Amino acid sequence: MQKRELLYEGKGKRLFKTDDENLLIAEFKDDLTAFNAEKKGTEQGKGALNNKISTELFALLEKEGIKTHLVKTLDDTHQLVKKVDIIPIEVVVRNIATGSLTKRLGIKDGEVLPFSLVEFYYKDDDLNDPIINDEHCLILDLVKSRSDLEELKRQGREINDILKKFFEQRGLNLVDFKVEFGVDKDDNILLSDEISPDSCRFWDIDTKQKLDKDRFRQDLGSVKVAYEEVLKRILG
Ligand code: C5P
Repeated sequence: MQKRELLYEGKGKRLFKTDDENLLIAEFKDDLTAFNAEKKGTEQGKGALNNKISTELFALLEKEGIKTHLVKTLDDTHQLVKKVDIIPIEVVVRNIATGSLTKRLGIKDGEVLPFSLVEFYYKDDDLNDPIINDEHCLILDLVKSRSDLEELKRQGREINDILKKFFEQRGLNLVDFKVEFGVDKDDNILLSDEISPDSCRFWDIDTKQKLDKDRFRQDLGSVKVAYEEVLKRILG
């Protein structure tokens, strides 16, 4: 499959058209951004690691019945994916309080939540991706119906159940993560984008070490070493 013209460039990926109008090629970049791109960096090999990690996790989720946009991995930094219309809602699922949740609500950092919390954020850089509720989603026409919102929450929880157990068996706490969904030509809601240490928080259960993008956000050293460790745990 040949890369054709660039369709979209995001912070972590580029999307290219292909000869097939229903398929796109995603290229994983080495760039790192934080705080709405106010902090920028790059680490060679980061994109390839995220490609591998995301491919493994999407394959695991597919096996468990979650439909995803992934068709196949093409090489180190490229995936062939189904073309979808991205729903502009970032679905965040949290097991342990940290990050913006502790800042916003004053919950103690590291506190285990009594149940997994699902939140929606409006995917809009100009507005700094604000947190929104179901009614905001409907007023902004981000989905067609309330039942689509229920479906996003259901899938978010299911993905969390599968991944939380998977990582616990590998000595990592899945603290929280963000996922995005898209709608394909047949109106199916598919898990899209990526699941990687750029979009998840992983804390080592024994050492409490952070093995995710917080290393970059909080100047804790190389992300690559941490992402390699996450991939090693995934591959067992
Ligand atoms: O910053 P916050 O605590 O809200 O992030 C929650 C989770 O969502 C983290 O795992 C973070 O990496 C992820 N996230 C993301 N992209 C964003 C915002 C958050 O991947 N734009």
